[in-house]
Amino acid sequence: MQLPHVVIIGGGFAGVATARGLADKPVRVTIIDKHNFHTFLPLLYQVATGILSVGEIAPQTRLILRKQKNAQVLLGDVTDIDLTANTVTSEVLGRTTVMPFDSLIVAAGAQQSYFGHDEFAAFAPGMKTLADALTIRRRVFGAFEMAESAGHAAQRARWLTFALVGAGPTGVELAGQIRELATRTLRAEFRHIEPGEARVLLFDGGDAPLASFGPVLSAKVARDLRKLGVGQHMGTIVARVDAGGLLARGPDGTVRRHPAGTVLWTAGVQAPALAEAVAGAAGADRDHAGRIKVGKDLTIPGHPEIYVLGDLMSLGGLPGVAEVAMQSGRYAGRRIRRVAAGREPAKPFRYRDLGSPKVGVFLIGAVACTLAIGFVVVFALHGAGLSQDSAQPARYGLELGVGVAFMVVAAVLAGRPPKPHSGESRWSTAAREGGLFAAFLAGLALYLPSPVYLSALQVVATAKLDTAAMAVRVIIVVALALITVEVPVTGSPRGGSHR
Ligand SMILES: Cc1cc2nc3c(=O)[nH]c(=O)nc-3n(C[C@H](O)[C@H](O)[C@H](O)COP(=O)(O)OP(=O)(O)OC[C@H]3O[C@@H](n4cnc5c(N)ncnc54)[C@H](O)[C@@H]3O)c2cc1C
Repeated sequence: MQLPHVVIIGGGFAGVATARGLADKPVRVTIIDKHNFHTFLPLLYQVATGILSVGEIAPQTRLILRKQKNAQVLLGDVTDIDLTANTVTSEVLGRTTVMPFDSLIVAAGAQQSYFGHDEFAAFAPGMKTLADALTIRRRVFGAFEMAESAGHAAQRARWLTFALVGAGPTGVELAGQIRELATRTLRAEFRHIEPGEARVLLFDGGDAPLASFGPVLSAKVARDLRKLGVGQHMGTIVARVDAGGLLARGPDGTVRRHPAGTVLWTAGVQAPALAEAVAGAAGADRDHAGRIKVGKDLTIPGHPEIYVLGDLMSLGGLPGVAEVAMQSGRYAGRRIRRVAAGREPAKPFRYRDLGSPKVGVFLIGAVACTLAIGFVVVFALHGAGLSQDSAQPARYGLELGVGVAFMVVAAVLAGRPPKPHSGESRWSTAAREGGLFAAFLAGLALYLPSPVYLSALQVVATAKLDTAAMAVRVIIVVALALITVEVPVTGSPRGGSHR
């Protein structure tokens, strides 16, 4: 009997995580990708600015899975799926392949959106693929070369102007890196131009860079960009892009031309064309960016055999970041394993956000709570006459009270993070984040240099019973950390979409 066949469209973060989750399991796995390499997208900036080479961020997918005997990797651009025959159609160099599946993973990622102005793409490359990064690299380094040999000051100034459209994470990071390139890397390499004079202009229709990360962080980013010398044109809508630069309408409604030798498009994401084919075949709903809506088991409602993962899935406002993609892949692998083994399907998907401020504060709360519980244990041991130092219990009691108080403050503050664009005012955000920071400092001040804590450590070094108490603390730290980092998918983590 043939083993069930799992076909994975896309060998990105989600696709590879799914395949790995099925290693050594009684299934056959096929990854189909239009590239034969796996791109580590968070390092695209470094390729675009010449810091890393292509090979360093894009290993061959078949190399990654070479030891996984039940997995094969095929090159192909998936164009269609047929849910009557349960097949996937892909094309490579004019050859069409139709492949049957038992379970299908659709993990084709996201692509750049020009908000209906695809004609801008010829003048303003996006930043979504390795090819984009190489194009940007060519244009950025080429612009310095053109400036070096330019005959007129105006031409030189135009070549030394870089305009970026979109002040999200990609625009902000790229703008900063181009300034660093100009002021450090290329500083002494030219004879007729001063690379440090390069102007980097960042355009965005919103009020501030990284607006979705909240006003405090956003204000800090704006300050840092100013220090780096990045010109910020916020509240500005780019109406046209051409070979000479761009036309933009500012906050006061006036339209101005900004000559620039290089324009880069760092705004907007949308689902790839494949999403339409999949949604059409499965009757799935899509969100405003074209991503496919899935249930909490990451399958399309009514199609338990079709999973949509990573950047292409739309679920509870989860952001388009690598961690979501990998966790969704691991979840799908686990669920397919269980179904193949005839067991109950896995529990609903829960995203563990390992990087939000909420989690950070919960973790601090968890550590404080753990210390407090640990002290209760030590206190009880003393009460039972199992430890000799009679001066310790009162101090442990005090420590316990403070620990619980700190934990309550941290949990209350952390439990109500605002949603992006929730209308929370700048001052209440500052007060809340200031409160979080104060709670954090309080935790550090009370626990890390605490003489009581240090003396407890000394006790641990000498007394076996107190070693047991410390072990209890460690176990509880780990358990609480694992519990508290779970963020239900219905609660959108703070920060919104990464791209
Ligand atoms: C410049 C940049 C910087 C980023 N920085 C960060 C960061 O710092 N931290 C973070 O967490 N996230 C970051 N991200 C986001 C993160 O990279 C994505 O969330 C993640 O890659 C999504 O994984 P995925 O598997 O869904 O899609 P991808 O990793 O994009 O993989 C999709 C795969 O599907 C393939 N594919 C697409 N269409 C087809 C088709 N029709 N047929 C066959 N194959 C197809 C593609 O070739 C690709 O290999 C960044 C993204 C970019 C673009």
